Amino acid sequence: MTALLLNGKELASKKREQLKKDVEQLASKQVVPGLAVILVGEDPASQTYVRAKEKACEQAGIHSVLIKKPNTITEEELLAEIERLNHDSSIDGILVQLPIPEHISEQAVIEKIAPNKDVDGFHPINIGKMMTGEDTFLPCTPFGVVEMLKEAEIDIAGKHAVVVGRSNIVGKPVGQLLLNENATVTYTHSRTKNLRELTNLADILIVAIGKPEFVGAEDVKEGAVVVDVGINRVDGKLVGDVDFDSVKDKASYITPVPGGVGPMTITMLLENTVLSARKRS
Ligand code: NDP
Repeated sequence: MTALLLNGKELASKKREQLKKDVEQLASKQVVPGLAVILVGEDPASQTYVRAKEKACEQAGIHSVLIKKPNTITEEELLAEIERLNHDSSIDGILVQLPIPEHISEQAVIEKIAPNKDVDGFHPINIGKMMTGEDTFLPCTPFGVVEMLKEAEIDIAGKHAVVVGRSNIVGKPVGQLLLNENATVTYTHSRTKNLRELTNLADILIVAIGKPEFVGAEDVKEGAVVVDVGINRVDGKLVGDVDFDSVKDKASYITPVPGGVGPMTITMLLENTVLSARKRS
């Protein structure tokens, strides 16, 4: 079997075309969606992500504001900046690019963002709503994963989904969203004892650990749907957490890296920003 490709790049560009139209429609009501991105320090990877977000906003017609702060900023100053944006009526979404310096509490920052502007979906109130299945901002990467599965008309209900990785931004929420779609979900992590036995039971396998090509063909059930969230740079090349070349011959669907989950993440951020703007229109 050769797996069909879950092409995130293609779906992302289709969604961005639709977003452009949605933004034009909002403009006719004098509403321009606005996203504020706060970048603290000079981390090169963060700078790249922030630039990509700015560019995507520009292409979609979303107003974006980049606020750069030095590493020396205090927690109080950063929280005050967020508070200012919470009250800025031209801003529908606020995002603080992570990681932030260690002297600032990540949790305090996340909790300072007004839940109705939390387009990353990290605020405890929005996480709680996601858990109870209420309408809310969903975290962008997990949201993108589920959108890809739906686009390919993959049945999620009743399937056994195994999630490898339990971070707050990917593993935990992606499992929750699959549960909301009626999958039976198993979470695994670095302390899981029989990891490879469990991955072999997965109808839908989501891998988000940050270890290059960790999952091979022997870890995957024949016909499984394999979603690789990992982004690792090896010898200047981007590779996922899944050994694409061997797994593609066993899976029914697989995401490539790059061009799979990655392009969906920013797209879902734009979608959340437009959703937020629509609420004020
Ligand atoms: P974290 O480092 O926050 O979490 C990694 C998780 O993987 C942890 O839960 C950890 O377990 C688990 N883990 C690590 N090693 C193993 C192992 N050997 N066996 C089983 N589980 C293991 O990473 P993130 O969730 O933030 O990111 C994961 C990957 O996804 C990274 O490559 C990242 O770059 C990528 N990513 C991609 C995005 C995209 O847009 N495509 C967006 C966000 C992330 P434990 O909790 O026990 O330590």
